[in-house]
Amino acid sequence: MTSLDHLIKLLSSLPGIGRKSASRIAHYILKKEKAYAETLARQIVQVKEKIRACSVCGNYTELDPCSICSDPGRDRSVICVVEQPQDVQTIEDTNEFRGLFHVLGGAISPIDGIGPRELTFDKLRERVGKDQIKEIIIATNPTVEGDTTALYVVKLFSEKGITLTRLASGIPVGGDLEYADKITLARSLKGRVPYSF
Ligand SMILES: [Zn+2]
Repeated sequence: MTSLDHLIKLLSSLPGIGRKSASRIAHYILKKEKAYAETLARQIVQVKEKIRACSVCGNYTELDPCSICSDPGRDRSVICVVEQPQDVQTIEDTNEFRGLFHVLGGAISPIDGIGPRELTFDKLRERVGKDQIKEIIIATNPTVEGDTTALYVVKLFSEKGITLTRLASGIPVGGDLEYADKITLARSLKGRVPYSF
Protein backbone atom coordinates (compact mmCIF):
# COMPACT_ATOMS: atom_id res chain seq x y z
CA MET A 1 0.00 0.00 0.00
CA THR A 2 1.44 3.42 -0.93
CA SER A 3 1.35 6.27 1.56
CA LEU A 4 -1.36 7.90 -0.56
CA ASP A 5 -3.51 4.75 -0.36
CA HIS A 6 -2.91 4.70 3.35
CA LEU A 7 -4.05 8.30 3.79
CA ILE A 8 -7.18 7.67 1.69
CA LYS A 9 -8.02 4.65 3.81
CA LEU A 10 -7.59 6.67 7.02
CA LEU A 11 -9.65 9.58 5.76
CA SER A 12 -12.47 7.31 4.61
CA SER A 13 -12.81 6.06 8.19
CA LEU A 14 -13.93 9.56 9.24
CA PRO A 15 -17.66 10.08 9.82
CA GLY A 16 -19.48 11.26 6.71
CA ILE A 17 -16.45 10.74 4.42
CA GLY A 18 -16.82 8.08 1.77
CA ARG A 19 -14.00 6.67 -0.35
CA LYS A 20 -14.56 9.22 -3.12
CA SER A 21 -14.37 12.22 -0.79
CA ALA A 22 -11.37 10.68 0.99
CA SER A 23 -9.56 10.41 -2.32
CA ARG A 24 -10.44 14.01 -3.21
CA ILE A 25 -9.14 15.28 0.17
CA ALA A 26 -5.93 13.25 -0.08
CA HIS A 27 -5.20 14.58 -3.56
CA TYR A 28 -5.97 18.12 -2.40
CA ILE A 29 -3.44 17.78 0.44
CA LEU A 30 -0.90 16.36 -1.98
CA LYS A 31 -1.32 19.32 -4.30
CA LYS A 32 -0.99 21.96 -1.54
CA GLU A 33 2.37 23.17 -0.22
CA LYS A 34 4.08 21.12 2.49
CA ALA A 35 3.38 23.72 5.20
CA TYR A 36 -0.34 23.10 4.78
CA ALA A 37 0.05 19.38 5.46
CA GLU A 38 2.25 20.13 8.46
CA THR A 39 -0.24 22.57 9.97
CA LEU A 40 -3.10 20.15 9.39
CA ALA A 41 -1.24 17.26 11.00
CA ARG A 42 -0.09 19.40 13.94
CA GLN A 43 -3.57 20.75 14.55
CA ILE A 44 -5.03 17.23 14.69
CA VAL A 45 -2.46 16.21 17.30
CA GLN A 46 -2.99 19.46 19.24
CA VAL A 47 -6.72 19.00 19.73
CA LYS A 48 -5.99 15.62 21.25
CA GLU A 49 -3.34 17.09 23.54
CA LYS A 50 -5.04 20.32 24.58
CA ILE A 51 -8.75 19.63 24.64
CA ARG A 52 -10.24 17.75 27.54
CA ALA A 53 -13.67 17.32 29.10
CA CYS A 54 -14.70 20.03 31.58
CA SER A 55 -14.69 18.45 35.04
CA VAL A 56 -18.00 20.16 35.83
CA CYS A 57 -20.20 19.84 32.74
CA GLY A 58 -18.32 17.52 30.39
CA ASN A 59 -18.05 20.08 27.60
CA TYR A 60 -14.83 20.10 25.54
CA THR A 61 -12.43 22.74 26.81
CA GLU A 62 -8.79 23.82 26.99
CA LEU A 63 -9.26 25.38 30.43
CA ASP A 64 -10.96 23.54 33.26
CA PRO A 65 -13.68 24.45 34.21
CA CYS A 66 -14.87 25.54 30.78
CA SER A 67 -15.74 29.12 29.82
CA ILE A 68 -19.47 28.45 30.28
CA CYS A 69 -19.14 26.94 33.77
CA SER A 70 -16.83 29.75 34.91
CA ASP A 71 -18.88 32.60 33.39
CA PRO A 72 -20.51 34.57 36.25
CA GLY A 73 -23.05 35.97 33.81
CA ARG A 74 -24.72 32.62 33.16
CA ASP A 75 -28.03 31.71 34.77
CA ARG A 76 -27.10 29.02 37.29
CA SER A 77 -30.69 27.99 37.96
CA VAL A 78 -31.18 26.37 34.54
CA ILE A 79 -29.28 23.37 33.24
CA CYS A 80 -29.57 21.98 29.74
CA VAL A 81 -28.87 18.25 29.47
CA VAL A 82 -27.36 17.09 26.17
CA GLU A 83 -25.83 13.87 24.88
CA GLN A 84 -22.53 15.06 23.35
CA PRO A 85 -20.11 18.01 23.67
CA GLN A 86 -20.92 19.09 20.10
CA ASP A 87 -24.55 19.62 21.18
CA VAL A 88 -23.34 22.36 23.55
CA GLN A 89 -21.87 24.23 20.59
CA THR A 90 -25.05 23.72 18.54
CA ILE A 91 -27.19 25.25 21.31
CA GLU A 92 -24.67 28.02 22.01
CA ASP A 93 -24.81 28.98 18.34
CA THR A 94 -28.52 29.83 18.68
CA ASN A 95 -27.72 32.60 21.25
CA GLU A 96 -31.00 31.65 22.87
CA PHE A 97 -29.73 30.00 26.04
CA ARG A 98 -27.89 31.60 28.97
CA GLY A 99 -27.94 28.75 31.48
CA LEU A 100 -25.52 25.92 32.18
CA PHE A 101 -25.00 22.60 30.42
CA HIS A 102 -24.54 19.00 31.36
CA VAL A 103 -23.06 16.54 28.87
CA LEU A 104 -24.16 12.95 29.47
CA GLY A 105 -21.56 11.43 27.17
CA GLY A 106 -24.11 9.55 25.07
CA ALA A 107 -27.58 8.09 25.32
CA ILE A 108 -28.96 5.00 27.03
CA SER A 109 -28.78 2.13 24.55
CA PRO A 110 -29.02 -1.36 26.04
CA ILE A 111 -28.26 -2.95 22.68
CA ASP A 112 -24.86 -1.21 22.68
CA GLY A 113 -24.27 -2.00 26.34
CA ILE A 114 -24.79 1.62 27.42
CA GLY A 115 -26.83 1.92 30.59
CA PRO A 116 -27.22 4.85 32.99
CA ARG A 117 -23.97 3.85 34.72
CA GLU A 118 -21.97 4.46 31.57
CA LEU A 119 -23.24 8.05 31.41
CA THR A 120 -22.69 11.01 33.77
CA PHE A 121 -26.00 10.80 35.69
CA ASP A 122 -24.24 10.61 39.07
CA LYS A 123 -22.48 13.86 38.37
CA LEU A 124 -25.73 15.44 37.21
CA ARG A 125 -27.46 14.36 40.40
CA GLU A 126 -24.61 15.78 42.42
CA ARG A 127 -24.76 19.12 40.58
CA VAL A 128 -28.51 19.43 40.91
CA GLY A 129 -28.29 18.62 44.61
CA LYS A 130 -25.54 21.12 45.25
CA ASP A 131 -26.59 24.05 43.06
CA GLN A 132 -29.85 25.96 43.05
CA ILE A 133 -31.21 24.32 39.90
CA LYS A 134 -34.82 25.29 39.20
CA GLU A 135 -35.19 23.95 35.68
CA ILE A 136 -33.71 21.09 33.71
CA ILE A 137 -34.09 21.37 29.94
CA ILE A 138 -33.76 17.95 28.36
CA ALA A 139 -32.20 18.33 24.92
CA THR A 140 -31.36 14.75 24.01
CA ASN A 141 -31.64 13.72 20.36
CA PRO A 142 -35.14 12.87 19.04
CA THR A 143 -34.22 9.19 18.62
CA VAL A 144 -35.36 6.08 20.51
CA GLU A 145 -32.17 6.22 22.61
CA GLY A 146 -32.54 9.96 23.19
CA ASP A 147 -36.15 9.53 24.32
CA THR A 148 -35.22 6.68 26.65
CA THR A 149 -32.51 8.88 28.13
CA ALA A 150 -34.92 11.80 28.51
CA LEU A 151 -37.38 9.60 30.41
CA TYR A 152 -34.60 8.49 32.71
CA VAL A 153 -33.77 12.12 33.53
CA VAL A 154 -37.48 12.74 34.21
CA LYS A 155 -37.58 9.71 36.50
CA LEU A 156 -34.52 10.94 38.43
CA PHE A 157 -35.78 14.45 39.09
CA SER A 158 -39.57 14.41 38.83
CA GLU A 159 -40.10 14.45 42.56
CA LYS A 160 -37.42 16.96 43.42
CA GLY A 161 -39.49 20.11 42.84
CA ILE A 162 -37.58 20.96 39.67
CA THR A 163 -39.30 22.03 36.44
CA LEU A 164 -38.47 19.55 33.70
CA THR A 165 -38.83 20.79 30.15
CA ARG A 166 -37.99 19.45 26.71
CA LEU A 167 -37.40 21.15 23.40
CA ALA A 168 -40.58 21.97 21.50
CA SER A 169 -41.22 19.97 18.35
CA GLY A 170 -39.56 21.05 15.15
CA ILE A 171 -36.39 19.00 15.37
CA PRO A 172 -36.69 16.18 12.82
CA VAL A 173 -37.46 12.87 14.51
CA GLY A 174 -34.64 10.36 14.30
CA GLY A 175 -32.15 13.12 13.60
CA ASP A 176 -29.32 14.51 15.65
CA LEU A 177 -29.44 17.85 17.39
CA GLU A 178 -26.31 18.92 15.56
CA TYR A 179 -28.10 18.69 12.20
CA ALA A 180 -31.01 20.89 13.25
CA ASP A 181 -30.78 24.33 11.71
CA LYS A 182 -30.14 27.26 14.01
CA ILE A 183 -33.54 28.93 13.62
CA THR A 184 -35.47 25.71 14.23
CA LEU A 185 -33.41 24.96 17.30
CA ALA A 186 -33.73 28.50 18.68
CA ARG A 187 -37.51 28.34 18.22
CA SER A 188 -37.61 24.91 19.77
CA LEU A 189 -35.64 26.15 22.78
CA LYS A 190 -37.79 29.24 23.24
CA GLY A 191 -41.01 27.25 22.96
CA ARG A 192 -39.86 24.48 25.28
CA VAL A 193 -42.67 22.65 27.00
CA PRO A 194 -42.92 21.08 30.44
CA TYR A 195 -43.10 17.32 30.80
CA SER A 196 -46.58 16.32 31.86
CA PHE A 197 -47.04 13.45 34.25
ZN1 LIG B 1 -18.10 23.22 31.93
